[in-house]
Amino acid sequence: MNEFYEDESISSWLERQIFYQKYEGTKRVSPSLSEYLLGRMTTDIDYYSKNDLAELTSYLSAVPVDIFVHSSPVSTHYLLPSMHRTNFCRACVVEDLGTARTAVWRQSWSYGWYVVCDKHICEMTSPRRYYPIRYVGLRSEIACRVSLEAPIDTLNIARFIDNDLAIDCDQRRFDRIKILITEIAINAQNNIRHLILLRTEAASAELKVIQDLTSIILRRHRRGIESEPYCFQLAKKLTGQSHALGSSSRILNKQALTGQYEVSDNFTRMLALAIVAVLMRYPEANRNWTKAATLFGESGFLAPQNRSKLYDASVGEPPSYTRQWFKRRLNAYPVEFRILCTEFCQ
Ligand SMILES: [Zn+2]
Repeated sequence: MNEFYEDESISSWLERQIFYQKYEGTKRVSPSLSEYLLGRMTTDIDYYSKNDLAELTSYLSAVPVDIFVHSSPVSTHYLLPSMHRTNFCRACVVEDLGTARTAVWRQSWSYGWYVVCDKHICEMTSPRRYYPIRYVGLRSEIACRVSLEAPIDTLNIARFIDNDLAIDCDQRRFDRIKILITEIAINAQNNIRHLILLRTEAASAELKVIQDLTSIILRRHRRGIESEPYCFQLAKKLTGQSHALGSSSRILNKQALTGQYEVSDNFTRMLALAIVAVLMRYPEANRNWTKAATLFGESGFLAPQNRSKLYDASVGEPPSYTRQWFKRRLNAYPVEFRILCTEFCQ
């Protein structure tokens, strides 16, 4: 129990040690360690500087040899602020309860682009829908509670993939659209992971394009002055819940484009990733999106199949700040991405 699980964050490992000490009564947490953690209640894995980590290890009676491997994130691409790293896989947590006796918080769960669990092929859960999370240490407890409350057999989307299913009502259409979007997002997520591991100039340029498009698609808006960004409108149509990041006060244009870090709802993130994949012409994305757009149309909601029109809908009515901002960004892209983006961004 003193070892790290695969992909586990340091915060998670510490929370587990405290959990075992609390419930097994083997050892008491040292006052110095308690004080150290109290000062870091709202921070997570990438917070630990070398000095900070040295201080932490000095308070531990047994230090795992690989603690330094887990002390920094693999990438900063769409790495969420600590208090926004709250989404988790319910199926993983149920398994953790059988092995680690509590939730093991994965480093992958810290990324806004990680929207489907690799292992269980199910959508990540957003606990903020159910409970407020005031400090990092509360996440695991809430994840365990939510996972035990939710029926596990409804999670695996693979079971629902059935092309021959009769689609004769809006609810069925929406379920099918969600599956198509999830399939697009899984491929896009795998591609992002691949690009991160490649660590080449071309890969980081592509990640930058993805980041820019995500910023536009998940932007904040001035409530009552601008309409909700298109992605939030689609998400609301499919889930029946609003997750838009509006504000009654004036938002600066630059602030509007950092909205993606505030999105806690997993479905909206997944939908944004799917739209990015369609715009980037990822394999299978356009074929699945064409099917999804047709089903949207049958439900009386406009979802453009054409990439230019999808970009227009996502970016908002011209003239808009985001449209001009993206055109400026294009100039810094390598030529292949400039050509790719010019196909939809006229
Ligand atoms: Zn899982």
